[in-house]
Amino acid sequence: MLLKSNIKRLLASQMKCNSILVTRARTMSTTGEKKHEHTESSLNFKGNYDVIIAGGGMVGCTLACALAKNSLLSNLKVLLLEGSPNKKVNISSEYSNRVVALNQNTKALMNSLKIWRHVEDIRLQPVRYMQVWDASSDALITFSSTDLQDDDVAYIVENDILLHSVIKELESTDNKNVNIVYNAKIDGYELPSAEDRKPKSTVKMSNGDAYTCDLLIGADGANSAVRKAMGVQYLSWSYNQMGVVATLELSEECNNTTAWQRWLPTGPVALLPLSSNRSSLVWSTWQDHAKELLQLPEDQFVDTLNDALWKQYPRSSSVSAATSWVSAALQRAGLPDGTARQLPPSVSSIVAGSRAAFPLGFGHSTRYIAPGVVLVGDAAHRVHPLAGQGVNLGFGDVKDLTELLAETLYSGFEITNREWMEKYESGRQRHNVPTQLMTEVLHRLYTTDMMPVVLARSLGLQLTNALQPLKKLIMSQATT
Ligand SMILES: Cc1cc2nc3c(=O)[nH]c(=O)nc-3n(C[C@H](O)[C@H](O)[C@H](O)COP(=O)(O)OP(=O)(O)OC[C@H]3O[C@@H](n4cnc5c(N)ncnc54)[C@H](O)[C@@H]3O)c2cc1C
Repeated sequence: MLLKSNIKRLLASQMKCNSILVTRARTMSTTGEKKHEHTESSLNFKGNYDVIIAGGGMVGCTLACALAKNSLLSNLKVLLLEGSPNKKVNISSEYSNRVVALNQNTKALMNSLKIWRHVEDIRLQPVRYMQVWDASSDALITFSSTDLQDDDVAYIVENDILLHSVIKELESTDNKNVNIVYNAKIDGYELPSAEDRKPKSTVKMSNGDAYTCDLLIGADGANSAVRKAMGVQYLSWSYNQMGVVATLELSEECNNTTAWQRWLPTGPVALLPLSSNRSSLVWSTWQDHAKELLQLPEDQFVDTLNDALWKQYPRSSSVSAATSWVSAALQRAGLPDGTARQLPPSVSSIVAGSRAAFPLGFGHSTRYIAPGVVLVGDAAHRVHPLAGQGVNLGFGDVKDLTELLAETLYSGFEITNREWMEKYESGRQRHNVPTQLMTEVLHRLYTTDMMPVVLARSLGLQLTNALQPLKKLIMSQATT
């Protein structure tokens, strides 16, 4: 019911907002409240840029690099404003607890920007096989590199290493048109209205400095102040869940190229491979449980985690009978019946102090654009990490935005030309919204142990696993 109403809300708000675009000039603080801290005359104008990117996370920095490297865009004067300090990444021998699973499309983008070679020089782990299974039944699905013309299913990369590699490449380009300001405390934005023939945004800093630009790009994450200043409708909810992360030491060294994900009634627990004896944990669970997990002594945490991976959960006899029947039928038809399951590794310890937890939520901005303003990455869309899609969607935004902007300038149009922005928005939403919906459906289906739902999802998983074209379709949505 809840799922249906959330999806309805999402679709209804999308339709409504496609016809309404807020056109007022807006002056907003970064918290979204109206405020005028500095009068125009007290502002210290520091410069005008063609493009200002607000937010230098993985998506904002990659966008800056993509703009700098595109020969049609390399003349643009770009300013990247990042709120946090310029942390010199310390690449230690121990793995960071924050990792992302990157798909083939992200790898292709990073390769085209010459960023991937820096990641490879440091470290990454290819995923060649993935096993996802249900704790409440025998159903399972596997993905392997052979399903993808023998290419890797995904790559596990530490967030710090990816960001470090992007900045390294950005700094080494001949293009000196991109300036980065760290510790940038943005106080608010003044955005143009639809009537402005030459839209210009003003970015006001808390120290009284101000910058102006033709195109403002919000890459400032899920709490985006740019999005708030645009005044667009944002559909969001918290999952009341947290993603508990940690770096795990495995009991035995192995050819660790498998990603494991077990669906527990509380949410998925995933082990992502890092090296022959290390994996990264992403355990999504209810907030209270996550807090308890963080409080446990490390050895007890490891026992609880091994239980989560191995423990037999109560099974419904009707579900077991139905899945065995389907299994037998698939076997008779010569199709994969899902019985060839592999056993996940067991965990011997966690790297001391590597546990942390992050709140999980859903977010969909009904508009990604306003006059002279564009949203990318988590500022525009936020998903549950269960399918490892969040930042991959953001990198898809970067690729499309760069290509469309280059085409526009090549054709002699303005950087704020409405047409390219609308193409960007509709193209990205066509891709991002179905992925968000698919993730939402999976989350709802798997955080219940109601028998009819367990039965339906188990049969669905068995059939999807057996039907190669369907599996390929899922893989192609997840990797593009
Ligand atoms: C537990 C967990 C696991 C995940 N696993 C995966 C995965 O396997 N695969 C995947 O694709 N995704 C994954 N994600 C999602 C992924 O981490 C996000 O999609 C990604 O970090 C979004 O990047 P971003 O650059 O858009 O936003 P952010 O990472 O939020 O970056 C925003 C940046 O903007 C800056 N900023 C914000 N406000 C201001 C301001 N006012 N002024 C200046 N700067 C500002 C911030 O300092 C920050 O650097 C996971 C998420 C979680 C929580």
